[in-house]
Amino acid sequence: MPAAALSPDILAKYEPVIGLEVHVQLLTASKAFCGCANKFGAEPNTNICPVCLGLPGALPVLNAKAVEFATLASLALNCQVRERSIFARKNYFYPDLPKGYQISQYDKPLAEYGWIEVPAAGGATKRIGITRLHMEEDAGKSLHDGFGDSATRTYLDLNRCGTPLVEIVSEPDIRTPDEAFEYLTRLKEILLYTGVSDCNMEEGSLRCDANVSVRLKGAEKFGTKVEVKNVNSFRFIRAALEYEIERQIEVIENGGRVMQETRLWNANEGRTYSMRSKEQAHDYRYFPEPDLPPLIVSPQFLAEAGKRLPELPEARRARMIAEYELAAQDAQTLTASREFADRFEAAAKTAKNPRRVANILLSEVAGRLKALGLEQEQSPVSMAGIVMAADLLEEGKISSKQMKQLFDVCFEKGEDFSAVYEREKPQQLTDASAIEALIDAAIAASPKQVEQYRAGKKTLAGFFVGQVMRASKGQANPALLNELVVKKLEG
Ligand code: ADP
Ligand code: ZN
Ligand code: MG
Repeated sequence: MPAAALSPDILAKYEPVIGLEVHVQLLTASKAFCGCANKFGAEPNTNICPVCLGLPGALPVLNAKAVEFATLASLALNCQVRERSIFARKNYFYPDLPKGYQISQYDKPLAEYGWIEVPAAGGATKRIGITRLHMEEDAGKSLHDGFGDSATRTYLDLNRCGTPLVEIVSEPDIRTPDEAFEYLTRLKEILLYTGVSDCNMEEGSLRCDANVSVRLKGAEKFGTKVEVKNVNSFRFIRAALEYEIERQIEVIENGGRVMQETRLWNANEGRTYSMRSKEQAHDYRYFPEPDLPPLIVSPQFLAEAGKRLPELPEARRARMIAEYELAAQDAQTLTASREFADRFEAAAKTAKNPRRVANILLSEVAGRLKALGLEQEQSPVSMAGIVMAADLLEEGKISSKQMKQLFDVCFEKGEDFSAVYEREKPQQLTDASAIEALIDAAIAASPKQVEQYRAGKKTLAGFFVGQVMRASKGQANPALLNELVVKKLEG
């Protein structure tokens, strides 16, 4: 039943409850339990062996790098890491799972009791609990289209079998589709910063199932949840949740009951469809994996992993806001990726005044890139170019107006700042008597401001600096100009 438009009054009677299950592929060189290459996009069925296919007699050996990455992710998500966790077999039949079971973790997962902070109303933050993070392996892929006989055949690519995954399960703490979107955005950012995954949703290295129920506001018990699968972008997850919340409210308002089921999101139609009900749900018959010993994460291993944990996005933003005197939004821009933030900070450190580098990057470069629809990586101006501009400005060798003009040329011609500066070498007026003449003219033209200045409104010095700068077509040496303006006004 498609959700009809429900009145805001009716929607307002209910509270959604959302919990997310996120699967993340780890960026290890080899697979979780064998030496096969772990890489996306290879010729089908070329990275496979008896272990990842589960041929009789083959024995899994745990990849230490996968444990290291899973541990890093656990720590970055504020989880407690279990010293002794247990692998389990999750049994089910599916064509892309030749083994007939997936190696996973069940009642003793690697990590539990974590949380992520998301922005909440009024500048506050809200903690979303992370129930668990466990290790498991991926299955292969059924290829339903792209072949001449796809109408009648399904092909199998088993390269993905045995790819190391972590599954991150949230508590049912999320209350709105927007909050779900924020949670996922933060989660992805944290995982990218730790470097354990590329989180590429198009390639399936990050996948999310959304669980959602509704209850009357004030009710204590959760409603019956529905699991929505097959959603391949954060925007679609938000849309699927919005749809599903309305659908469930409509069912209840019409006197019905929400069925516990798994539904699929159809992006083209913007709605969910029932895939299987509770009665058809799998019984996985979990049991401890007999071929793998318990996974022991020693206190030393944990301490080592802790040392390798990078400064995480939230902490980095807080530090950079203080260090470079940034607005929150600007800090967000500068920390959009760890790689970019690293490049910015490495460059800023070499400048005479690091704060100027942040300023110029945000005001002169980011704005122009945005207007042109370009990414940071496509910028004609390098970090070194921005540092050069910052230093020239700091030393008063160019005025801010001249700098703007130079950046205009950089973006028009697609050239770096140093090339444009060396060629154009903007003229500077450094002759004190010529500058003084311009100041005299400005003073004569604005007697009222002179009076106010002399009565104590010292900030008006900036007004005269601006007047003279304009009169000199931006060429007056800024340091000299500042000095002479004050001297004249005081004199
Ligand atoms: P299952 O046994 O069906 O796998 P779990 O209790 O393990 O269910 O929860 C799976 C996910 O569903 C978790 O992210 C959890 O937060 C969420 N969840 C559990 N109950 C509800 C509910 N009533 N409404 C919405 N989400 C829920
Ligand atoms: Zn293999
Ligand atoms: Mg569960």
